[in-house]
Amino acid sequence: MFLRDDPDVDLHIHSKYSDGTLSPREIAAWAKGNGLSMFSVTDHDGVGGLAEAAQAAEEFGLEFVTGIEMSTEHGFSFGGSGSKMVEMHILGYGIDPENVEILRVCDIMRRSRLERNEKLLAAIAEEGYDITAEDIPAANAGYISKPQIARAMIAKGYVKTIPEAFEKVFDTPRFEAIKKEKTDAFEAIRIITGAGGTAVLAHPMRIKHIGKRGSEEMYTNLEQIVTELASHGMGGLECCYASHTEEEKRCTRAIAERHGLISTRGSDFHGPGVTAD
Ligand code: AMP
Ligand code: MN
Ligand code: MN
Ligand code: MN
Repeated sequence: MFLRDDPDVDLHIHSKYSDGTLSPREIAAWAKGNGLSMFSVTDHDGVGGLAEAAQAAEEFGLEFVTGIEMSTEHGFSFGGSGSKMVEMHILGYGIDPENVEILRVCDIMRRSRLERNEKLLAAIAEEGYDITAEDIPAANAGYISKPQIARAMIAKGYVKTIPEAFEKVFDTPRFEAIKKEKTDAFEAIRIITGAGGTAVLAHPMRIKHIGKRGSEEMYTNLEQIVTELASHGMGGLECCYASHTEEEKRCTRAIAERHGLISTRGSDFHGPGVTAD
């Protein structure tokens, strides 16, 4: 496994095993069709698609790297201020998909998501929307996310777009209070490395609430986050991320270099025509 950020690799792709629309096999075909030589499947808090992806990659003659994108959080104290919770997505590459710790954390996340979804649906019903579990198209392995609930709301004519569903429903205080569990970021790095993998901070420029994207404050805080994560065993930074500008790629690569981290490349592809993360 040689993680890198060259144009012929895509190390950040979601399948039907989380909120993507393609099967792992269809992703392998897509990777082949797009001239890639190496890809990973990085579903949110799940490894269900990795066996199929590995098999399909072999058939297509592509190099495959096992992957996962873990939803994490950790408290940081920036510039001497009090501790502030920061949510981060941490990618794990080259993990053993049968590692018991990985499977344990995926199971906790899966249950937490199911419980969260039940509460979301109850609150949606209380707000007067006629949406039940039957209206929601489930992906493989029963993974249901807010965008899928939003699609059900679109189908019933309550909203026109997914962002509108977030604005009117999910991003309002009542719904924001209904949370699912997240793994502590240091713990996620420990689990990934313990499963034989390399932990990589996903889309660093999209980290919220650490300053305006691209500002000096944001880069200072990001560097602090990276310093602490690297000291806990993180091995890489997703510098070459689809929505990063050239300037952002340059700056994050410089951060990676300063900390001896690998730079990786990822598109965050969720299927043709799907915009999600
Ligand atoms: P969940 O994993 O079920 O909590 O849903 C979170 C997902 O919703 C994120 O990963 C995004 O893909 C999507 N999302 C979050 N905010 C928005 C938004 N404002 N508009 C569209 N999609 C969003
Ligand atoms: Mn996603
Ligand atoms: Mn992703
Ligand atoms: Mn992400």
